[in-house]
Parts: sequence; structure tokens; C-alpha cells
Amino acid sequence: MHTCKVPPAPKLRLYRINTGSCNGCDVELAATEALTRFGLERLGLSFTADPTQADLVLITGPLTVRSKGKVLAEYAQVPDPKITVLIGVCPISGGAFRDSYAVLGPLDEFLAADVNIPGCPPRPEAIVAGIAEAARLWRGGEGPQLAPAGFPAPANLRGRMSYRAEACVGCRMCQHVCAGGAIRFEEQEAGVSFTLWHNSCLFCGMCSHYCPTGALTPTGEWNLAHPQAQKYQMVEQGVVPRISCSCCGVPMLPVVPELMRKGYRALTRETAQLQTLCSECRQVRSIGGLQRCTK
Ligand code: SF4
Ligand code: SF4
Repeated sequence: MHTCKVPPAPKLRLYRINTGSCNGCDVELAATEALTRFGLERLGLSFTADPTQADLVLITGPLTVRSKGKVLAEYAQVPDPKITVLIGVCPISGGAFRDSYAVLGPLDEFLAADVNIPGCPPRPEAIVAGIAEAARLWRGGEGPQLAPAGFPAPANLRGRMSYRAEACVGCRMCQHVCAGGAIRFEEQEAGVSFTLWHNSCLFCGMCSHYCPTGALTPTGEWNLAHPQAQKYQMVEQGVVPRISCSCCGVPMLPVVPELMRKGYRALTRETAQLQTLCSECRQVRSIGGLQRCTK
């Protein structure tokens, strides 16, 4: 009897290039390679030290001014077709080194990136998920899919930040403390829009620590590996709507209960009324001039 056997997927070789990283991602990559439980071998993947023998290129670090020539020459030695994986936020966006005089733009300005694995550094499981996606792309879409986000994570592990516009007062403290430059605010007619780009976020948790209202909280979602086509879709967004002062009518950002709780022992009818006043009318009220409000 004839039995049809599916031929095993060809083995793929990985080549690593460090463009000038702090070595954080390289340590995680070394663990990913060395520990069999992360399963690179099971995916038919092994490392090579010879770029001319490689199929997939793994890049760590921001592209520094000094390393550019060497990095691009080394990259060119890997024969086409090759799939390129950027590991950590540095090669994807510049990460904490963005805008440094010593660092050039994101790697995709100089070569064709295929898969991004954000994080600072990403966990080995996320690295494996990104490399698995790269192998799948190399094999023409065959093979394991990217592992879904939201794996069980150790307690207190910081992953992607989650944002609640309804708890935000638009103070912008989060933007001020963000080392990755991941947070942007934009003035709009309807309010202030907030955007946090996961491809620049270091998972440091500073924004959450300093946020006075708890509008930003870390989640355990650490696996954010994604194809390059989704690079700019990896965002957390919301709009803090403007309201009108209940006294003078000027547009203002809302004063949320989370903030009032910090200043008052209990939320009462009076504090609820204060929440609807702009800062000027609040001052007037606090010195007994509420009668001024005629609206
Ligand atoms: S965790 Fe917050 S402060 Fe830290 S890099 Fe990410 S967005 Fe910025
Ligand atoms: S998220 Fe928090 S820190 Fe950032 S603007 Fe809103 S209230 Fe302020």
C-alpha cells in the first residue's frame, strides 16, 4: 500500500547581528538558543556563524553611526531570499536611544524588516514566537503561526501598558517620565488624544508609577511579536474629551474621581460639584465666591 509522507520542513539557519546594543536582548537570545525548553530545535532552526549560509537574520540594538557600514556589509552577505527579524525596541524604533546623536533611524530605513519583536528586552518566548513567524514567512506561509498574545506570565511581570481614557486627566506626567518616548498627546477639537506606541515602550512601568489617577496599568501581555506590516498598528489609544465648566462654560478636561479621592477624604455632593468647575472657578469657590456663578 502506498503511503503519502509529508516531507519534513527544511532546516533553517539563523544569523545574529548586533548593531551596537546594550546586550540585554543578546542575553535573552542566548538563553533562547541555549535552553531546549524554548524549542528552537523543534522548529527546525539552528544558528550559524557564517552569514553566507543563513536564511533568517536576527538583529539586536539600535543602528549606531559608527556601526552602520559594517552592519549593512554583513547583512548584504546573507543571501536572498532572507527574512529579517528585529529583536527589541532599539532596532524597531530606537527605543531608549532614539534621537541620540550616536544613533541613526530605525533599521527599516536601511533594510527590509519582516518581523518585529518589541520589548526591552523581549522574553525568550516572545523571541521564539517572532522567529517562528519569520520561519513561517520563509517557508511561504507554512508552519506554526505566531503564538497569540496573553500567555500566562509570572506575577508582577510588566508587559504592554493598558490605558483608560475615562480615568485620565491629561496631565501628561506619563509623557514626561517616559524614557522610550513612547507616549504622545495631540490637541484635538473634541479633546486630547493619547497614543502609546508599543514598539517604543520599554515596559519600565514609570508611566504607571507616576500616573496620579491609575489610568495606565501594566498588563502581563509580553508577547507582542508581529509582522512588519503591523508595525504602526501596535498602539494603545484613547481620547480625553473636553467638557464645559458648569460655572463659566470654558472648555476644560474632566477632573476624574480618582484624582478627587487624592485630595478629599470622601467623595461628597460638594466634591462632585467641584469636579465640574474649571480651575479658576474652583479657586473662586474655595474663597467663598460661588455666587459669582450665574449659569
Ligand atoms: S512603560 Fe510607560 S514610561 Fe516606560 S517606556 Fe513604556 S510607555 Fe514609557
Ligand atoms: S495617563 Fe495618567 S499621567 Fe498620563 S496624562 Fe493621563 S492622568 Fe496624567
